[in-house]
Amino acid sequence: MNLRPEIGLTFDDVLLVPKRSLIRSRSAVDTSTWLVPGIRLVIPIISANMDTVTEAPMAIAMAQAGGIGILHRFMPVERQAEMVAKVKRAESFIVEHPVTIQPGATLAEARLHMAQSGIGGLVVTDAAGHVLGMVTARDLLLAPQAEARVESVMTPRERLVVAGSGEPLDAARIKLHEHRIEKLPLVDSEDRIVGLVTAQDIVKLQEHPQATKDEKGRLRVGAAIGVRSSDLQRAEACVRAGVDVLVIDIAHGHAEHVTRMVQQLKQQFPHTPVIAGNVATAQGVQDLAQAGADAIKVGVGAGSICITRIVTGYGVPQLTALDDCSKAGKALGLPIIADGGIRNSGDLTKALAVGAASAMLGSLLAGTDESPGAAVVRDGRRFKVVRGMASLTANVARKEIEQQGEIEPDEWEKVVPEGVEALVPHRGGVADILHQLVGGLRSGMSYAGAETIDALHAKAEFIRITPAGWSESRPHDVNVI
Ligand code: IMP
Repeated sequence: MNLRPEIGLTFDDVLLVPKRSLIRSRSAVDTSTWLVPGIRLVIPIISANMDTVTEAPMAIAMAQAGGIGILHRFMPVERQAEMVAKVKRAESFIVEHPVTIQPGATLAEARLHMAQSGIGGLVVTDAAGHVLGMVTARDLLLAPQAEARVESVMTPRERLVVAGSGEPLDAARIKLHEHRIEKLPLVDSEDRIVGLVTAQDIVKLQEHPQATKDEKGRLRVGAAIGVRSSDLQRAEACVRAGVDVLVIDIAHGHAEHVTRMVQQLKQQFPHTPVIAGNVATAQGVQDLAQAGADAIKVGVGAGSICITRIVTGYGVPQLTALDDCSKAGKALGLPIIADGGIRNSGDLTKALAVGAASAMLGSLLAGTDESPGAAVVRDGRRFKVVRGMASLTANVARKEIEQQGEIEPDEWEKVVPEGVEALVPHRGGVADILHQLVGGLRSGMSYAGAETIDALHAKAEFIRITPAGWSESRPHDVNVI
């Protein structure tokens, strides 16, 4: 038996002490951070791999805002891989496999092709992919004969503006503008089609200048996997679909089968970073780091929907866990992700100030338009459901996916849940929530006189408070309206 003498602290046990600041405006602070070495986020926020939080729409919105989403794993492998592909396709300045048509096709076929693919232009090629021209919806608009051939209305190759496959975004933008065209086919040295840049896609890019992108201009996305041997196939499908980071999703991450999984993933997919967790101690960080993890997720029992501490008696109050783990992470050069228990921008600022590089949010994002599931109405107010991935219904749903059918009622009774199901208020678009959180964080950084998250960590001074200090911290002695 070992009874540790110190008291474990969490967010409400402390406040940050204001420091002399030279920052005149909140816009002067830089909230960017490393998710893992090599992946930079403009905002230090990750949406949780929970089936009531992150599927493709959330992952797209998170990456557009400068954070990242981690797709949950409680679905068949093919569906998760398809979601990865959907995020990767959502915003890219290069269409990698443009839809093509042959010159002998009819205008009716071209129209159908465009309608089916939801696009306004087709590259005309021969069977080997050599570019012969381009046909757009405008070319078809008033063409009288549906049976006429595409070649009779297309812009032929000699009048077509094209670019090489490695055309940088800025050069492509200038070409599109100078020639007042909407589509720029990219060709290889033998004039075969290898991609397409559209003016529309570039405009979309400009709407999200902070977006988290890979080197090809595609949004970044992560995917959660488990630790069974079949999860290597899940990982492989996600990697093939272009996933940027794999996240091992397991409640007690300081375990032999987790370190083994990290090693296997690093061996099989050496170019895909792996986030491992969850742990709550420095030793947990060191062991996962030694196995090859690229970042460590910290939090045992802190989540809003979590009852692990009640059911098992285990956990470390989150601020203390983050303090211990980020000291170990710093010594090893590994980013720490604060996972669970963040309820507002003050908690986010405290988590980063104590040493985390970024934070994962569940319930706080579960009430948004982009989370899976529809809103429900109770007493005239709109809510969305959030559930722990170890809750009763999530356990049953997982078993049903594994068995591909409904499970018997007595199976329900065998489940020992470590999570609950709950309602959170429906709160509109995720961009608005992120705006509030990042606004609060910026303000928090300026109270510390910190222009960066590293400086916030270096300058942070916490003071422990009493319950009286906490009640003074909230609105008091007024009727809040
Ligand atoms: P929240 O931001 O406080 O809602 O916490 C979200 C985090 O709770 C997730 O990222 C998980 O680490 C954790 N979590 C999710 N489901 C469960 C569960 O059923 N039991 C315990 N923890 C959970």
